[in-house]
Amino acid sequence: MIDMAAHPGTRPTYDVVVVGGGHNGLVSAAYLARAGLSVLVLERLGHTGGAAVSATAFPGLPTRLSRYSYLVSVMPEQLMADLRLDVTLSSRRTASYTPTLRDGKPGGLLVERHERDATRHSFLELTGAETEYDAWREFYADVAEMARVVAPTLLQPLPTERELRERVDPGTWRDLVTRPLGEAVERRFTDDTVRGVVATDALIGTFASLHDPSLVQNRCFLYHLIGNGTGEWRVPVGGMGSVTGALERAAVSAGAEILTGAGVSAVRADEHGGGEVTWTSDDGASHSVGARFVLANVAPWVLQILLGEQPEPDTKPEGSQLKINFLLDRLPRLRSGVDPAVAFAGTLHLGEDYSQLEAAYADAAAGRVPSVMPGEVYCHSLTDPSILGDVPSGTHTLTYFGLLTPASLFEADPEGAKALAVERAIASLDQHLVEPLMSCVARDGNGDPCLEAKVPQDVERDLAMPGGHIFHGDLDWPWAPARARLDTPAQQWGVQTNRDAVLLCGSGSRRGGAVSGLGGHHAAQAILAMR
Ligand SMILES: Cc1cc2nc3c(=O)[nH]c(=O)nc-3n(C[C@H](O)[C@H](O)[C@H](O)COP(=O)(O)OP(=O)(O)OC[C@H]3O[C@@H](n4cnc5c(N)ncnc54)[C@H](O)[C@@H]3O)c2cc1C
Repeated sequence: MIDMAAHPGTRPTYDVVVVGGGHNGLVSAAYLARAGLSVLVLERLGHTGGAAVSATAFPGLPTRLSRYSYLVSVMPEQLMADLRLDVTLSSRRTASYTPTLRDGKPGGLLVERHERDATRHSFLELTGAETEYDAWREFYADVAEMARVVAPTLLQPLPTERELRERVDPGTWRDLVTRPLGEAVERRFTDDTVRGVVATDALIGTFASLHDPSLVQNRCFLYHLIGNGTGEWRVPVGGMGSVTGALERAAVSAGAEILTGAGVSAVRADEHGGGEVTWTSDDGASHSVGARFVLANVAPWVLQILLGEQPEPDTKPEGSQLKINFLLDRLPRLRSGVDPAVAFAGTLHLGEDYSQLEAAYADAAAGRVPSVMPGEVYCHSLTDPSILGDVPSGTHTLTYFGLLTPASLFEADPEGAKALAVERAIASLDQHLVEPLMSCVARDGNGDPCLEAKVPQDVERDLAMPGGHIFHGDLDWPWAPARARLDTPAQQWGVQTNRDAVLLCGSGSRRGGAVSGLGGHHAAQAILAMR
């Protein structure tokens, strides 16, 4: 990386200036620099990675947590091979565990990564019949068929909706694409817990009812199930920072220049192509640089502001998640008696029965922190202890990701509402534990509990994701809708803006959501097709 003070960029003009050094900006930079283009990346923070970073969140402790995003699924293996990324993604031993309390009796639903007898047995014990597991297998076989059709298109120009629809069973297409997901969930499953486990993938960072007519929940569901044709979520060894580190090395070794501490304040797009980017460095000095193309790794809403447009306030995205990072002295024991090393290795669902999800949505839509907080926890260090550093044996990380907590809940009383949400998140786990979670939480160097909570407002402040929306805005279908214009390379790759020389390269591009590198890849391909 270039020392900003000494070296504010080496040229007056670049082929490409990338606004934002998130993982997608680095993907674009790597592809384009490898193709011989001059590339400058401008990042406002003191480091690259955006939401894909590792950090030592707890003073005096060496553990490097994936502070925001933590699992990888949507990034294509091919992209990782293209850029020769030195990254290992490890499979988790458990897919999911859902602790239950029925008639006061603790139990749970276990889904193994490779479903075998323990999974079938667990369904039978919870639901009392074979039928629910059969329904589960049938549903996910249909989803897998869809994933196998969509995943190979992700590194191609946008397929049309029709092209894909013709290759998928009409019933599956209806269930996943044209009708609100809640209909399929209610028709195909009967058990409240099973229904909820299925439905949660539709609500990650997405505020919706399962019956929302906008179908935003269906789109969210699809992205969570199609990664590499399997939808498996894997653990980046070394934490999310290892993904960004590898991307940064790929970009820099190919010749891209990266300036950190460079907050872009304006983007000018000229009528006949090209443009200029203006930024302020940490010392307060203003700089400008010319560009043939400008890539926006920032959210489309932020880009509008940088272009001098006045976006309507009600078009601002709104995030809907609560992220809590914990460091534990030991993993807590569960009342169901399941081994914590099994239960916490995968996604452990809390307050996510289907009826609880719908009740939480109703609460939040009425402006209340959900009385039962839906969320999920997982322990990174069970799969990859390398992030722990030199800590006492038994120490583990625990990540909580809460659903259906829109930013609006935290506006009137930011601290009070956040404290309430955290308290309820902890309570949702405690009811399944032999010992309260807080009795297992480690203390940092100041003697404070190792607990870091972030509501959407925190994410917006830290990362400039508008409204704290983890995907820069609601997700789009990963194909071109009927009647979409596909005349230019930017349109064909789903990265166009209303200025020819300015393209989206981040999460807000058509298929850019999640740690996928897709936005970066698509923008790079569009530029390579135009140069
Ligand atoms: C709490 C949380 C948990 C998540 N969990 C997961 C997960 O487990 N798996 C997953 O796949 N996805 C997850 N996501 C979503 C995923 O992290 C994002 O979709 C993805 O990281 C977006 O990458 P990006 O490069 O497009 O944008 P960003 O990561 O937002 O990067 C944009 C960059 O632009 C910089 N920037 C902004 N404004 C300016 C400016 N004016 N000038 C210069 N630079 C600027 C920012 O500082 C940032 O570095 C999560 C996100 C959050 C917040």
